[in-house]
Amino acid sequence: MPSAYVGRFAPSPTGPLHFGSLVAAAGSLLEARAHQGRWLLRIEDVDTPRCIAGAAGGILATLERFGFEWDGEVVWQSDRIDAYAAALERLKSAGHAFPCACTRRELADSALARDGSRRYPGTCRQGLPPGREARAWRVRAEGLIGFEDAIQGWQEEDLARDCGDYVVLRADGLYAYQLAVVVDDAAAGITHVVRGADLLDSTARQIHLHHLLGTPAPAHAHLPVATNAAGEKLSKQTLARAIDDQPPSGALVAALAFLGQNPPADLADMPLAEVWRWARANWQLARVPRKRHAPAPDLA
Ligand code: GLU
Repeated sequence: MPSAYVGRFAPSPTGPLHFGSLVAAAGSLLEARAHQGRWLLRIEDVDTPRCIAGAAGGILATLERFGFEWDGEVVWQSDRIDAYAAALERLKSAGHAFPCACTRRELADSALARDGSRRYPGTCRQGLPPGREARAWRVRAEGLIGFEDAIQGWQEEDLARDCGDYVVLRADGLYAYQLAVVVDDAAAGITHVVRGADLLDSTARQIHLHHLLGTPAPAHAHLPVATNAAGEKLSKQTLARAIDDQPPSGALVAALAFLGQNPPADLADMPLAEVWRWARANWQLARVPRKRHAPAPDLA
């Protein structure tokens, strides 16, 4: 019987894959295969100003070089704008979303922000102030969202207190990542999200959106995020080294070690297919360190 498990890897094409993305790709694939599940690939190019020309092609080539095999066609968020628009219409017509005229400047100057909160102060919640035009659309954030993260444990967020009404259509006309990811995960039938713990704080909003849109929220497991010597998340901004020029067996074994799987010392010298064979036979989510971040190894 085919398994009901559907996982995915969803990189943003904002630069080449680095060690942190390799960890998320490997962890999500191995957990899906451990459940005889499918593993889908989605290129998250909804935030066009952050996308870099050629990065998506580079990511796909690197994944292939590392021996990743995904199921079905790659989904591109840039092809899915109509689905995001339809979801926003549903949120609007159910009264869950409202137009907001606030500029970044006004929000930064609000009394709440001066107290150190990044929460939306609620200015346009009951209607646009007279003479002002909608810039963005926000969702009313209400209720307590709790979920059991398979790695990080029980998580709970009071949406109104901890986050406030959040943007689903940005002032620049682009759909927010929060909306896109929920619509795409629901359309693909994703049952399990395994990704970096930098997204743990987005999860309550995403579960909230699933509830509002009437789609089942997936289960979550957030892997530790790889950090550099200064304790910063590896990213293009922190000049993380790309993995596409590294021997794949060694980098993959380093990712398995980072994920607490204790690969044998000589595995890094084996052919890539042997590394994957070992990883699939030995993968256990329970061995992943229950931390939000951990230092990346020094890859030669
Ligand atoms: N596109 C996001 C990133 O690259 C990942 C989103 C997700 O896995 O939900 O950080």
